[in-house]
Amino acid sequence: MQKKVHNDVAGDADGLNIDQHDQYVWRLAYFDPVTQLPNRTALTETLTVLQAIMQHQVSEPLPPFFRGSSESKDADSCAFQLPENLHHLSLLLINIRRFKEVNDNYGLDIGDRLLSAIGQRLQGQVEAGKLVARTANDEFAIVLPETAGIALPLAIEHVKMAFMEPFYIDEHRLTIDAYIGAAQCCELTQKQATEHANLFQHASIALDYARQVETQSRIYDASMGRKIRYRQNLIERLKTAIYQDQLELVYQPQFSLTTGDLVGAEALCRWHDETLGYVSPLEFIPLAEERGLIRALGDWVIQSAVAQLQDWQRDGLPPPGLLSINTSAQQFDTPYMVDYFLDRTRAISAEHIGIELTESVMMRHPEKSMKLLQRLREHGFHVAVDDFGTGFSSLAYLSRFPVTSLKIDKSFVEDMETSHDHFTLVQTIVAMAKSLGLKTVAEGVENHAQERLLEQLGCDATQGFLRGKPVAANEFAQLWLSQ
Ligand code: C2E
Ligand code: MG
Ligand code: MG
Repeated sequence: MQKKVHNDVAGDADGLNIDQHDQYVWRLAYFDPVTQLPNRTALTETLTVLQAIMQHQVSEPLPPFFRGSSESKDADSCAFQLPENLHHLSLLLINIRRFKEVNDNYGLDIGDRLLSAIGQRLQGQVEAGKLVARTANDEFAIVLPETAGIALPLAIEHVKMAFMEPFYIDEHRLTIDAYIGAAQCCELTQKQATEHANLFQHASIALDYARQVETQSRIYDASMGRKIRYRQNLIERLKTAIYQDQLELVYQPQFSLTTGDLVGAEALCRWHDETLGYVSPLEFIPLAEERGLIRALGDWVIQSAVAQLQDWQRDGLPPPGLLSINTSAQQFDTPYMVDYFLDRTRAISAEHIGIELTESVMMRHPEKSMKLLQRLREHGFHVAVDDFGTGFSSLAYLSRFPVTSLKIDKSFVEDMETSHDHFTLVQTIVAMAKSLGLKTVAEGVENHAQERLLEQLGCDATQGFLRGKPVAANEFAQLWLSQ
């Protein structure tokens, strides 16, 4: 049936009679010219009508997709036969993994032919009466009437089989796999009808979750929706907090293990939202990275740390030695952050401010980040490797990176008294840092025993709850800068 409607989707409108012209326009509106499958509009209309059937509320006339190219005839040319009654309905959204790479590596023509082949395989995988559509560039959908409950995971596994064999396009052998998000609904009371309308949205949320799991498929459940809404709310509020100056920096002191003097501080970002309460940076920093807010947040941190140093100076207080600010991966994707940092810190002596970055940030684009760090070093700014020991920086790289200190991760410090392995690791890091001419700062030092061990090993400085928790600027000044 579908073949019949598809024949001249991509054809030419010239020279057609009125009926043919109608049909041409109808096909253009409802079918994807690449795969010859129904498109997103067709899918939306199909779901609307199926949901109406489920609620016994079908109103005539049906949407144009079901009326075909002309209302009087062509009824059989519609791609999908509507059932009389419907009790269950499921929708699968299938996203082709890394499809862009196929386009980039082999060109658009191969990409298009692959999509077409995928469409055919998917159609071959489902029985008659189920609609296969192409809903976006690399996304397909399958509508499964009367499929729900235990039948749904089985249907998903069945669809996955479409990707088990490679695709052959010309001389290319293409191994493709896909993420699948699924959602289902059943006959409803009127009250539940709003939930009902969201089948596509639910499958789309499940698809996001599918991207994070090994099985690559997930079926929507209500908790997913709540989490997504929470995150959406969080991101909106975070955006406001950044742009309306509602974030705060707190400062945690660092002390020399030889003299006991204050030698530095780390600026840590805090967000207290009036309805959500305290939100941990472990939650909002990754979210800001994911949603493209890290540049704005990073700028705010640089600007606020510089302003704080200037405030302390204006109040006649000494600087806290070296003030370090944290940086994130995306801030090293372009030279922007380094430019911004160099610009904003012009009035500050380089020995009083520096940055921290983790090994994974350094290793993301080693050559690029090396150049950016080099620029900071040329201006005399300090660069510390944060959470050292948890990443995978190679020694060869470490010796070439223009860094000035290593911050030993708190997970090693935490149990160095009880774990021989961790003790040895800390010992090795300190020895290695010395031989590379780098300073060491131990993070998360919570008791005297840890501090004594670190001192014996020759670690330079300590940062942790034992000597000082992160506190607001005023309190920091009172406690550590005013003597
Ligand atoms: P980090 O840079 O490794 O910061 C040290 C974290 O350890 C801080 O957590 C600090 O409060 C905590 N800490 C310090 N001493 C102790 C201790 O003795 N025991 C224990 N258990 N914890 C201790 P916080 O403030 O929650 O920050 C978590 C992470 O969030 C930071 O880890 C950093 O990666 C990130 N972060 C915080 N502020 C910023 C920022 O302004 N920009 C960026 N990009 N990341 C930030
Ligand atoms: Mg840090
Ligand atoms: Mg750290």
